[in-house]
Amino acid sequence: MVTGRHHVLVTGGAGFLGSHLCRRLLDEGHRVSCVDNFATGSADNVDDLDSRVGFRLVEHDVTEPLPELGAVDAVLHLASPASPVDYRRLGIETLRAGALGTERALDVATRNGARFLLASTSEVYGDPDRHPQPETYRGNVDPVGPRSMYDEAKRYAEALTTAHAGRYGTDVAIARIFNTYGPRMRADDGRVVPTFVTQALAGTPLTVAGGGEQTRSICYVDDTVDGLLALLRSRIAGPVNLGDPHERTVRAIAERILWHTGSDSPLTTVPGAPDDPRRRCPDITLARTALGWEPGVSLDEGLRRTVAWFAAVGTAAA
Ligand code: NAD
Ligand code: UDP
Repeated sequence: MVTGRHHVLVTGGAGFLGSHLCRRLLDEGHRVSCVDNFATGSADNVDDLDSRVGFRLVEHDVTEPLPELGAVDAVLHLASPASPVDYRRLGIETLRAGALGTERALDVATRNGARFLLASTSEVYGDPDRHPQPETYRGNVDPVGPRSMYDEAKRYAEALTTAHAGRYGTDVAIARIFNTYGPRMRADDGRVVPTFVTQALAGTPLTVAGGGEQTRSICYVDDTVDGLLALLRSRIAGPVNLGDPHERTVRAIAERILWHTGSDSPLTTVPGAPDDPRRRCPDITLARTALGWEPGVSLDEGLRRTVAWFAAVGTAAA
């Protein structure tokens, strides 16, 4: 699947992860239809692709029936707000993207006999009480909590994807993506890396939430893209965790970003986000054994590239 020259539909392709995926697929010689309504992404993320042969940008909301795009060989469904700031602001839209949007995207895959990949999330594990999290862990999610619009949208999307495969034989894959960072994140999307990098470059205090002792594992975007494409090319349905297995405190991430920017910004403590997971780290045994995938970009190399991008263009775009 998607080894020769194929036509790939990427929903949410004008977002952070989607734009990197579109670029990689074009580099590999595929044709790409990028469908996005710019709810949290921007045409700027793919403006360098506009002139490339085989690329098409379609402004469209995936909760509405998709326009005719011709025969499609694979569908990568990423359309959804993803940062906590965005999905709280766009709660209903996030639920609709996970429910209606996933169904529309699955319908396209089924009609075309295409492989379908759902961009799910580590948030399906909620505030986990098992560490690290394997795919068999069922999670600790509050269905009416402040993250419920995102967590439950993705849990529903996983269930719908599984049901579609069961009823229609759709060839599906579910990726549970853990925190990913890199160039083309919005400086103001509220996520930890773009926020800290932007603050460090501006010389303003880094807003460490709670005590900063909560943990995340952050994966550089090129590695996540490699993992998504490895899963797409496999015959595995998953779910498969894709993430960096090095668990770090938020405070440690802040200190590393200060080092990379050479900034003397102080760390300041701000109130913790509601329902903020205390620990998060993937068990990637399945991805390693079944896909031969694991992250290859070190934290220092990933931050070096990210800081360079924000210093050059990222903060100017905000
Ligand atoms: P992003 O906000 O940068 O990209 C999401 C894109 O989807 C945006 O371009 C947005 O405009 C588009 N979109 C949203 N609703 C839409 C709709 N109804 N119709 C059409 N387009 C719509 O976020 P991202 O970080 O690139 O995340 C992409 C996907 O990966 C999301 O599904 C997210 O849940 C998943 N994911 C990302 C991460 C991460 O760390 N980046 C982690 C876990 C899962
Ligand atoms: N965080 C922080 N300061 C910020 C933004 C985020 O301390 O300015 C923390 C946040 O509370 C969480 C972690 O960084 O513990 C990761 O947050 P992010 O929004 O990037 O993603 P999440 O994993 O929560 O979806």
